[in-house]
Amino acid sequence: ALTAGIVGLPNVGKSTLFNAITKAGAEAANYPFATIDPNVGVVEVPDDRLNRLAELVKPQRVLPTTFEFTDIAGIVKGASKGEGLGNKFLANIREVDAICHVVRCFEDDNITHVAGQVNPAEDIETINLELALADLEAVDKRIEKVRKQAKTKDKEALAMLAVLERIQPVLEEGKPVRMLDFTEDELPIVRSLFLLTSKPVLYVANVSEDEIADPESNQHLQTVKAIAAEENAEVVAISAAIEEEIAELDDEEKELFLEDLGVTEPGLNKLIRISYDLLGLATFFTAGEKEVRAWTFKKGMKAPQTAGVIHSDFEKGFIRAETISFEDYDKLGSEKAAREAGKLRSEGKDYVVQDGDVILFRFNV
Ligand code: GDP
Repeated sequence: ALTAGIVGLPNVGKSTLFNAITKAGAEAANYPFATIDPNVGVVEVPDDRLNRLAELVKPQRVLPTTFEFTDIAGIVKGASKGEGLGNKFLANIREVDAICHVVRCFEDDNITHVAGQVNPAEDIETINLELALADLEAVDKRIEKVRKQAKTKDKEALAMLAVLERIQPVLEEGKPVRMLDFTEDELPIVRSLFLLTSKPVLYVANVSEDEIADPESNQHLQTVKAIAAEENAEVVAISAAIEEEIAELDDEEKELFLEDLGVTEPGLNKLIRISYDLLGLATFFTAGEKEVRAWTFKKGMKAPQTAGVIHSDFEKGFIRAETISFEDYDKLGSEKAAREAGKLRSEGKDYVVQDGDVILFRFNV
C-alpha cells in the first residue's frame, strides 16, 4: 500500500500527531491486520459520500477505506553525511510515497525549540537541505556515468543527461527537485531517479490550540504557505495536541468539542484527505444490502485492475463494470432508479475508473 511518512525536527509535535493518528485508527475499527508495524498508523479515510450511500442503501455494515501513515524516526541534521541513525532516516524516507513534514508554528515557552526559537523557514530548510544533499550526491554520480554514455550520442543517455543537468543546480542551492516543472517527456526520467526531493510534500503546520478556529492569523503559517507555494507543496494547519484529544473522544463528545473549538471537522481529516490526494489515490464504492464499502485505487487505473483491488479473481475473470457515478446515485437514490434513468453504464476493460464511481463488477469464476 502507498504510505505517507511523517517527518520533522525534534519537538515539533510529530509523536503527538502520530499518537492522534494511531488512536483515531484504533478507535475506528477492527483492522484485519494481525501484527502491525508500530511505526505504521492506519486511519479511515473520511468520506461523506460513503455516509450518503449508507443512508440510501441501509446495508448491514459500512466499511470505509483506509490509509497508512508511517512515523519516520532518525536523526535529521547531518543525515546526508550518512552514519547510523541519519542513514536510517534517509532510507525510511526513500520507502514512503509522500512526505508529511510537521513544522512547529505554536509558541510555547515551556517547550524547547531545537534552534532556540520558532522559525518555520529555518526548520524547513534544515530538512530540505539534508534531503537535497543526499539527492545531489546521487545526481553527481549519475551525471559522471551518463556523460560517458552520452559521448556515443546515445539518445536515451542524452535525454537523461539533460534532465540531470536541470536538476543539479537546484540541488546545489539546497532546494527540492519538486519545485521544477517537468515536461511529459522528462517526467518518466525524473521518476526513474527515485529522488527524495521529488516526492510530494504536505507541510503540516502545527499551530497552537487557541488558533485552530482561525489559523490564518498565525504568521508562521503564512511563512510555511509561501514556501510551499514556491516548491509545489501543500499545507494544512492543525493542532497536534488537540488532535490527540479529539482522537480519544466518542462521536457525540467529538461533535461538542469541535463546536466548542469553532471548527467543523478534525484537522486530521484534512490531513488524511490531502495526503490521499497527494499520493494520486481515489475512491470507488461497492453498494449492496450486505455491505456498502469504499475502496482505494490509483487514479488512472482501468476497470479490471480496479476490480483486482477487491479480489484477484475479479481481475482475472473480469467481464464488465456496471457503473453509476456517485452524483447520479445521490440524485436518483438507488441502483434501480439509476438503471431506469439510463445512468447505469456498462463499462469494459478499457474504462478508466473515476473517483466516486459506484461499481458492480461482473466476472467469470
Ligand atoms: P516530536 O519530538 O516532534 O515528536 O514532538 P512531540 O510530539 O513529542 O512534542 C513535543 C512537545 O510539544 C510535547 O511536550 C508536546 O506536548 C508539545 N506539543 C505538541 N503539539 C503541540 C501543540 O499543538 N501545542 C502545544 N502547546 N504543545 C504541543
